[in-house]
Amino acid sequence: MNILLIGAPGSGKGTESELLSKEYNFTQLSTGDLFRTNISNKTKLGLKAQEYMTKGIYVPDDVTNDMVKDYLQTKNSGLIFDGYPRTLDQAKALDQMLSDLNQKLDYVVHIDVKESVLLQRLSGRLVCEVCKRSFHKINRKPKVENVCDFDGGKLITREDDQEDKIKVRLKVYNEQTSPLINYYREQNKLVEVDGNVKSAIDFHKELVEALKL
Ligand code: AMP
Repeated sequence: MNILLIGAPGSGKGTESELLSKEYNFTQLSTGDLFRTNISNKTKLGLKAQEYMTKGIYVPDDVTNDMVKDYLQTKNSGLIFDGYPRTLDQAKALDQMLSDLNQKLDYVVHIDVKESVLLQRLSGRLVCEVCKRSFHKINRKPKVENVCDFDGGKLITREDDQEDKIKVRLKVYNEQTSPLINYYREQNKLVEVDGNVKSAIDFHKELVEALKL
């Protein structure tokens, strides 16, 4: 089974992908994480992606689709797509890539979160440099300041979690990614979940029920 999580930056896609992966043995395919790994390793792809990511805008579709196509050659089922596709062209490309591999997306989950909640989450977000888990300066403080509870990694603020970048990212999401909700509704794959106020654990329970896992 393959699942896609669609939601604005800060909607909890990453946290939820991690919980589903651990509990149901999915593998998380996060294009944001793949780009960041390429940036750390200073690859050609990383250098290209960095230009766009630091501005808070999307990496071009052809670059992103090629990276995902390579990934799918080694693994193409039991995946949770986190942050891909993000445009209609990417969605169409993914449908084709999966169908060429006799695979498909089974469920598309739209995590709906109000903009005020997203802004509050993103502006306080801290991420572990090592395992990428998220914390929050006020709502989900680590036990030791700026140190990951899980592996002792350093907690950092992502460059694109600065206020001016957050605004751009939310605008880009509304313009380019939200049309995907209708695209998948028309394919009868859409599961809508309210991600506003619940804790990550309550939200997770609700999603597991909705997906009948
Ligand atoms: P994320 O970690 O998912 O919030 O992604 C961080 C940044 O990586 C985004 O703001 C984009 O610049 C880039 N990115 C990640 N996934 C995609 C995608 N599917 N298409 C284009 N750009 C992406």
